[in-house]
Amino acid sequence: MHKYIIMGVQGCGKGTQAKQLAKTFDLVHISVGDIFRWHIQSHTKLAARIKRLMADGALVPDDIVEEVVRQRLDQHDWNFGFILDGFPRNHHQAEFFLESYDIDAVIQIDVPDQVVLDRIMNRRLCGKCGLDYNLIFHRPAVVDVCDVCSGPLLSRADDNPDAVRARLKDYHDKTEPILELFRTKELVVAVDGTRPAAEVQDEIWRGLGLSVADK
Ligand code: AMP
Repeated sequence: MHKYIIMGVQGCGKGTQAKQLAKTFDLVHISVGDIFRWHIQSHTKLAARIKRLMADGALVPDDIVEEVVRQRLDQHDWNFGFILDGFPRNHHQAEFFLESYDIDAVIQIDVPDQVVLDRIMNRRLCGKCGLDYNLIFHRPAVVDVCDVCSGPLLSRADDNPDAVRARLKDYHDKTEPILELFRTKELVVAVDGTRPAAEVQDEIWRGLGLSVADK
């Protein structure tokens, strides 16, 4: 059983790394942002409470986030473990989590702010199949059209410069300090996220002491 948290500023590549790790080791990838986006797309009752906050790049209140995480982990479909992406994001959420669950490691992906700003402004998602693109690394064959399903490529509503700056500020003010908490427990594995995705994945494996035998 592997239980991990992955942390880093938005656009550092944590979603990509988390998905790859989950696929290889059969972990459940739990992205709180994805769960919230599902609520918005599905027009649930919760969507009305979080839509505006998300579009502004603001954090959703802790009670809502914690309930979503609790419900997701209570499904107990994570026989081989989980990787939490985008949670915890502040001290309160970290304490809530550590009261009820334990983890093996926190993966910290380091990327300078200017690099993530450039990456995020080039990020696109297929509106139909959800595949993600980055116009710097992965251009579609036809501009604004998904290579796989021909759906339209869109920017996330919160991928605008003001919202990105708000999220970077929140990360440095509120999220980064909780890394200290995890560091005192010797749980943090830091990797350089400016390198190509496959190399970052290798470095994560090395840091976590994982090998093909763990698959
Ligand atoms: P992400 O996909 O991780 O960038 O999350 C998108 C948005 O969802 C964030 O900008 C927040 O508005 C909200 N969100 C996701 N995770 C959290 C969290 N742990 N605490 C508060 N808000 C969150």
